[in-house]
Amino acid sequence: MSGSEAGQWSDWRWQLSNRTRGLGALSEFLQLASHEEEIYRDVIARYRYAVTPYYLSLIDWSDPDDPIKKQCIPDPREISFSLPGSEEDPLAERAHMPVPGLIHRYPDRVLAMATGTCAVYCRHCNRKRTWRNPEAGSTREALYRMVDYVAGNPRVREVIVSGGDPLTMQQRLLDEFLKALRKIPHVEVLRIGTRIPVVLPMRITEDLCRMLARHRPLWINTHFNHPREITPESAEACERILRSGIPLSNQTVLLKGVNDSPGVIRDLCRGLQRIMVRPYYLFHCDAAQGTDHFRTDIRKGIGIIQGMWGKIGGMCIPNYVADLPGGGGKAMMMPSYLLEVGKDEAIFRTFEGKIVRYPCPGGADALV
Ligand SMILES: *Cc1c(COP(=O)(O)O)cnc(C)c1O
Ligand code: SF4
Repeated sequence: MSGSEAGQWSDWRWQLSNRTRGLGALSEFLQLASHEEEIYRDVIARYRYAVTPYYLSLIDWSDPDDPIKKQCIPDPREISFSLPGSEEDPLAERAHMPVPGLIHRYPDRVLAMATGTCAVYCRHCNRKRTWRNPEAGSTREALYRMVDYVAGNPRVREVIVSGGDPLTMQQRLLDEFLKALRKIPHVEVLRIGTRIPVVLPMRITEDLCRMLARHRPLWINTHFNHPREITPESAEACERILRSGIPLSNQTVLLKGVNDSPGVIRDLCRGLQRIMVRPYYLFHCDAAQGTDHFRTDIRKGIGIIQGMWGKIGGMCIPNYVADLPGGGGKAMMMPSYLLEVGKDEAIFRTFEGKIVRYPCPGGADALV
């Protein structure tokens, strides 16, 4: 790489404007015969396709099961395969929007879809319904309607700024939105959900971090799914965020063929701990239309957690959750270590499978 090419590579604007999109590139990568092109044309007409040169460079094309490729390169199964129960909007997000783009499902926090744009369109995205029919826009008017709603609801103490990917927004508009939210006295905490550190790490500039840090207490929750996404570039992006005083956590989606094995999730979580990103959630893959080929069995997720609990540090173990259909919210799924609570004792299973009796005399709760 020449000096100026290296300079371009680390320029996020260059990465964004040189994203791979369209059938031509796909056909070349996948060496499609002309009769195969048709289905891919239909897939990307339905679910848009764009990948940054950086994220694309992580693919090992010689591996037919490459986990990076599966996350960003369109697959005919997105339109040809479905399992029972899948829906466009499995979490009934649309039904929980008091104003367009703002989901209010829990009493104390709301999720603002501040933009419909992403740097890379993840094939497993559970909001891919919004790619063609945006439910919000990052217009100033739409954002201020959200601000007004939050201002009028004193029970909301946390706003999660999500999307799309909010770190693809115009920096000035994002700054303005965060500032307006921060001004609301009952909003105690802000959280940003973003995949930018993983797919466009060069966007995490010192200048962006300084802007975000002005709105603390602010947390960033990012989205690494595979240990191969932990690269020098993404680790440095996380380091810049952390150094600016913003804590980082991660949510992973359990994806068939990408990370649905105990070894991969363990390595991912250990890798995240090394770069000081706290594993927060491991999501069971939602029943979202267009992503059915990624769905797995809940028992597999439980087995993965069981394989980690007690065996690796608790700081590397995420909560395994399913987001319940119809907007029931997240439900935690844990292998059970408490087998029984009797009158005078509880019975536990240890992480190594031994049965242990734990005294819990009936009088322990009584006032003495
Ligand atoms: C996941 C989610 C949240 C955040 O939930 P936490 O358990 O606090 O991470 C808030 N609102 C909506 C609509 C969500 O889907
Ligand atoms: S970055 Fe998030 S919102 Fe955007 S496509 Fe990926 S999973 Fe969906």
